[in-house]
Amino acid sequence: MDRYSSKYLFSSLKPMEASFNPRVAAMQPSATLAMAGRAKKLKRAGADVIALSAGEPDFNTPEPIAQAGIEAIQDGFTRYTQNPGMPELREAICAKFAHENNLKYTPEQILCSNGAKQSVALAVTVLAAEGDEILIPAPYWVSYPEMTRFAGANPVIVPTTAETEYRLTPQALADAITERTRVLILCSPSNPTGSVYTQGELKALVEVLQNHERIVVVSDEIYEHVIYDAVHVPIASLSGMQERTITINGFSKCFAMTGWRLGYMAGPVDIVKQAAKLQGQFTSAPCSITQRAGIAALSMDKAPLQAMVKAFRERRDYLLERLSTLPGVQAPKPEGAFYLFPQINDYYGTIAPSGRMINSSDDLCFYLLEEHLVALVPGAAFGDPDGIRISYASSMDDLRKAFDRIETGLKQLSQR
Ligand code: PMP
Ligand code: GLU
Repeated sequence: MDRYSSKYLFSSLKPMEASFNPRVAAMQPSATLAMAGRAKKLKRAGADVIALSAGEPDFNTPEPIAQAGIEAIQDGFTRYTQNPGMPELREAICAKFAHENNLKYTPEQILCSNGAKQSVALAVTVLAAEGDEILIPAPYWVSYPEMTRFAGANPVIVPTTAETEYRLTPQALADAITERTRVLILCSPSNPTGSVYTQGELKALVEVLQNHERIVVVSDEIYEHVIYDAVHVPIASLSGMQERTITINGFSKCFAMTGWRLGYMAGPVDIVKQAAKLQGQFTSAPCSITQRAGIAALSMDKAPLQAMVKAFRERRDYLLERLSTLPGVQAPKPEGAFYLFPQINDYYGTIAPSGRMINSSDDLCFYLLEEHLVALVPGAAFGDPDGIRISYASSMDDLRKAFDRIETGLKQLSQR
């Protein structure tokens, strides 16, 4: 019987027995969203929780962008757009690449989606065949390995260390490549470590890739403009790389537009077309109103964005200072994004006054959340069980309070 006939589907279901797609059933929920959700739930129940869990700017969307959204509704611009996104938006994205990155793309090389998360998922799904390997330097953003497994491919985690400020070395890359390697995912500036690759470091990685034509780079550059002491270099701008790179970017972080849901990919037409086909069957184009807002974002004066980055920098510097006074908590100085990723394993083997044992970063996270009302995200979800992620996309007042609480919480832990 044809597997897809309704007769087969109904006959294969046992009464009252739910049966799920094993790839979905095996998937881990997003730890960042889960911790943010837990913090929100506690807050709704009246607890004074400070959430440094989700990577979400605390700023409102800048006025010209919000206004463009309002006008789109008032103009009745509320119907489906072209599946890959409005031509005007894709043209504006091409202009952004040309002006900011010196990269030439045509609109058919751009696919706009419901957030950069969808763009990454589409890219990974299109590129990886069953059994292919996808290289993911750790610490990584939580969703990459889950997206990889869902696509039927195998995530190959390549650890990096604090000594290289969590940047992948050419040697580690060369050692990880096999005949099955199809994709390398890079994220610079990085979530969760804030590290940024220099041009020289990227060139060294590209040299390794030159001997492996099958590998495509998925370069997640969503924090491009949240950058402090470093210069952002798109890997697609390096010689020979534009033809084998899918650049991911979006509006959530740099324009404080997390709730609007708009991201995009740019890459070779063949790959983008496959991704657009998938999007056409799964979700269609992103929201029409959001796309109008996106066009306004790309053409607005950059002063409000620079003010946000200035505030993030001040917060980062403040947190680094506070961190330096905490025994056994080290983190390299982040050069971009809005996260700190300190190592906290010195606290394993300790006990809290409540009797709670701390043996992992999960334990420490739940201790800080439940007993000291600060929400962070455990490092295991990012592929580093000795780390913990602190998002500093929160007001200075909240950061001060949160750090007082973290300091008190850590001081109360004693060796067992
Ligand atoms: N990539 C990275 C590295 C991120 O931190 C995020 C945060 N959500 C995304 C992609 C997805 O962003 P969004 O879907 O909100 O555009
Ligand atoms: N990217 C943000 C984070 O890492 C938002 C949550 C998510 O989409 O995972 O916290």
